[in-house]
Parts: sequence; structure tokens; C-alpha cells
Amino acid sequence: MHETAPWGVENQPPYLNMAIEVETELGPEALLHVLQDIESEVGRAKTYRWGPRVLDLDILLFNQLVMNTEELTIPHPYMHQRVFVLRPLNEIAPGVKHPLLQSSISELLKKAESRSS
Ligand code: ADP
Ligand code: MG
Repeated sequence: MHETAPWGVENQPPYLNMAIEVETELGPEALLHVLQDIESEVGRAKTYRWGPRVLDLDILLFNQLVMNTEELTIPHPYMHQRVFVLRPLNEIAPGVKHPLLQSSISELLKKAESRSS
């Protein structure tokens, strides 16, 4: 787990970020619905945009799938800009390529870190 200062709205407690890999027979929408069920089970209350939340489960990558519907965008549209996403992801998938940018996670992390420092 990586402790990260909040993004967007800054006067709130730090976040804990982690990336996990799962193997599933579900399609992307069905997987999203499972994640949403888990979020509500854990008692996620909507506050305000980028405000504090108990749990936020996002799909970053789904193999090399690219999709963009009203409900679901894969790869996650901000993942390549966010060091707090790329750091934990880099620990488990440094060599995986972003299917749209054609860069590896470790390359994207280096770029994002050089922009943010
Ligand atoms: P965020 O994760 O951007 O802080 P939310 O967790 O409130 O915001 O998500 C809002 C909506 O984002 C969800 O209802 C979901 O339909 C949509 N969404 C689009 N792409 C994804 C993705 N890759 N992973 C998770 N949710 C996504
Ligand atoms: Mg989310």
C-alpha cells in the first residue's frame, strides 16, 4: 500500500493506494458491477468530487482491451497521468504495455514522476 496525499481537493486525509491483478471469467461491465457492489458493501458514501471516500475500486487495464462507453472507459482515462496509480501498478506490472500509448507502465511512471517533481 502506498500512502498518497489527496489529489484534486487537498484538505482531506491521505489515501492508501494499491494495485491488484485478478483473473476472472467476467467481462468488463460485469466486473465493474462486482466492484461497485463491493464499494457499497464497504459503505462508500458519496461526498463531493474527489472528496474523501472509504473505498474506490477502478479498472485500470483489462488485458489489452480498449473500450469507451458511457459506463466504462478502459484503460482508465487518467491512469497514465497519476503517479499514485502508476507506482503501485509498476510493482506488479512494470512491463505491461498501455494499449493506447504503447508505453510500458515503468516508462509511464518515469514520465509522470518527471512531470510531477
Ligand atoms: P473516480 O473513480 O473517477 O474517482 P467514481 O469512482 O465516482 O470516480 O466513478 C464514477 C464512474 O466512473 C462509475 O460510475 C463508472 O461507471 C465510471 N467508470 C468509467 N471507467 C471506469 C473504470 N475504468 N473503472 C471504474 N469506473 C469507471
Ligand atoms: Mg472509481
